[in-house]
Amino acid sequence: MINLEIPAKLQQVQQMAQQLAAGVFRPIARKYDAIEHCDTPEELKPVAQMMAAMPRGSGGKGGGDEIKNGSNMTGILAVEAMCWGDVGLMLSIPGSGLGNAAVMAVGTPEQKEKYGKLYCAMAITEPGAGSDSAAVSTTAELDGDEWVLNGEKIYCTAGQRCDAVVVWATLDKSLGKAAIKSFIVPRDNPGLQLVRVEDKMGLRVSDTAALSFNNCRIPKDHILGSAEIGDTEEARKKAFGAMGRIAPDLLVQDATVPRTKLPEVLAGIDDIGSRYGLKIANVFHAGDGNLHPNILFDRQNQKELELVERASKEIMQLCVDAGGTITGEHGVGLDKREYMTLVYGPAELQAMAAAKQVFDPDSLFNPGKVLPEVEGAELGVAMKASTVS
Ligand SMILES: Cc1cc2nc3c(=O)[nH]c(=O)nc-3n(C[C@H](O)[C@H](O)[C@H](O)COP(=O)(O)OP(=O)(O)OC[C@H]3O[C@@H](n4cnc5c(N)ncnc54)[C@H](O)[C@@H]3O)c2cc1C
Repeated sequence: MINLEIPAKLQQVQQMAQQLAAGVFRPIARKYDAIEHCDTPEELKPVAQMMAAMPRGSGGKGGGDEIKNGSNMTGILAVEAMCWGDVGLMLSIPGSGLGNAAVMAVGTPEQKEKYGKLYCAMAITEPGAGSDSAAVSTTAELDGDEWVLNGEKIYCTAGQRCDAVVVWATLDKSLGKAAIKSFIVPRDNPGLQLVRVEDKMGLRVSDTAALSFNNCRIPKDHILGSAEIGDTEEARKKAFGAMGRIAPDLLVQDATVPRTKLPEVLAGIDDIGSRYGLKIANVFHAGDGNLHPNILFDRQNQKELELVERASKEIMQLCVDAGGTITGEHGVGLDKREYMTLVYGPAELQAMAAAKQVFDPDSLFNPGKVLPEVEGAELGVAMKASTVS
């Protein structure tokens, strides 16, 4: 059965956030709302230390009392509870800026060490680029060992009081989204000016700043991720044709893992390929954790076909163990049906079979393609048979 209760481990996080909201945020909310444009409220500094020590959840396959997607759920429950206290104060907790999330997601180990614990804001929005973030015009040009940033940013949360800003800028506007990169700029960089802090009708304790970058020079290693501009659309179009030149057959797998786990999952897939002596090429959906490990083989070779099936199952298990799941966009069918037990236990599968029976009592909808088989029949059909007998 799918359990909608909040797991015990997360209840503790939720209670802590509720106590914080009621005991710290609510009593000071009006005071800081009236002040506006203040420094970080003193009362939030110990909160930042407490947040840093909060459990982040285990991720992983789950089962029993283990938590699936623990870190996302932790964040949602904590933010929900704190917003009841005061949204502006929640947005003002040092060290929990949008820029911190970016550094932790794609920073190098050195960048995480240096900036991960500072208070990092995120500057994407510009006067001419809001919802359409691909239209950013702030430029970054490499000059020797330094990047030179020029442009205007608006609505930057914590832009005044942060320690550093993660700035989106384009290396070459004519190359579109692929040329947009993010850069870490220390707040005290002389090329970064605070233009104004907005007067707002709400969230007044949270500063919302306009920033200007005028020949703002930062070291070359302050780029987050790679400076390479990949023509990903072209590469994506040609990927399957290229694989077709290597082997006559291709098993296209479809799985999803947390984005932060992509490097270790790719290394694991590589290892599986080496152990089975199979070539595996991975094709991605940029940024959403959906990946397609494609196993190249020749179906005339019966022995190789068996290895492909075994390797495929191991890849699915690897993705599930990393906190992911067995499909991203292609759904469950004859191949994936057998992997359903990697993610669901008997009670959950029986609940799904019972739900399917309500809408499909004669088993006409995709029979045998969704639920695994028990005793030679699809789970739903087997359940119905046992009910009739
Ligand atoms: C309090 C606050 C804090 C913020 N903090 C940050 C921050 O820390 N960093 C940062 O980079 N930005 C931040 N922002 C900016 C925020 O991300 C932008 O306001 C947002 O992206 C929308 O952009 P915009 O205001 O230019 O509105 P627009 O993009 O001009 O949109 C205006 C309206 O048009 C609609 N619209 C836009 N495009 C389409 C479309 N294609 N189809 C249909 N409708 C459309 C929108 O839904 C909206 O209703 C903050 C904003 C606020 C208000």
